[in-house]
Amino acid sequence: MDLGIKSRTALVCAASAGLGRACALALAKEGVSVTITGRNRETLEATAEELRKLTDVRISIAIGDITTDEGRAAALLACPNPDILINNAGGPPPGDFRDFSEADWQAALNAHLLTPIALIRATVNCMITRKFGRIVNITSSAVKAPIPSLTLSNTARTGLTGFVAGLSRQVAKHNVTINNLLPGAFNTDRLRKTAEGTAQASGQSVEVVIATRAAANPAQRVGEPDEFGAMCAFLCSAQAGYIVGQNILLDGGAVNITM
Ligand code: NAD
Repeated sequence: MDLGIKSRTALVCAASAGLGRACALALAKEGVSVTITGRNRETLEATAEELRKLTDVRISIAIGDITTDEGRAAALLACPNPDILINNAGGPPPGDFRDFSEADWQAALNAHLLTPIALIRATVNCMITRKFGRIVNITSSAVKAPIPSLTLSNTARTGLTGFVAGLSRQVAKHNVTINNLLPGAFNTDRLRKTAEGTAQASGQSVEVVIATRAAANPAQRVGEPDEFGAMCAFLCSAQAGYIVGQNILLDGGAVNITM
């Protein structure tokens, strides 16, 4: 299926690895010129080189922490006025809410609420003028089924969900869509990092923790980043203009709800 986005431009945040990288690759395979962001030049350049080998589009990089003014400025300088914006940043740490300082809360809100809003604010008007725009925020299944130990994530991402619910309905008439993709367990560094905490507490190996989690999933496995990227690319397609303000779970059915 031709997604109708060949020659479009995309800014994919926090894309040196994991789900961001998978979204960048899926878009590049559709002929989209992609700018990927990341904090470490060496890692980001290596990822960009991998993507260039797998596709035949222009891949550029923007170095910086996307949760800072400087990081966002670098991203927008490298990819001014993108047709497609994928908002993403590394997830907040787990823990009991009593143990987090105000700075921890500010950091989570900054990364998972204020940063995506700032990037949407910087790009949405050009999308409206162009009569095409696709914005996808990578959030979490925790938005639908909050995970007690991920209180920072639950809180900040739910705020973004409310923001998107309002704004997406205002811009849809311009063929600008904003949707959220909600990953469950995906095979990335983040999954291994969160499994490390459980492994330490339970005395099991990280492999056993992940295998146990996979076995409890209705699909009896964790997701692969490419599956996530494919869904992201479809949400960014020309055909997806009627998908507006949705929170789409990709979790193998782990969250058992009807809506
Ligand atoms: P990951 O840690 O495997 O990869 C994140 C990538 O983004 C890394 O390359 C990292 O260096 C980069 N990055 C992180 N913070 C950044 C920043 N501030 N600026 C620039 N680059 C940054 O994570 P992932 O599994 O790909 O997850 C992506 C998002 O999805 C995270 O917010 C995570 O919490 C969320 N999520 C992931 C899962 C999962 O199972 N993988 C489940 C639910 C939610």
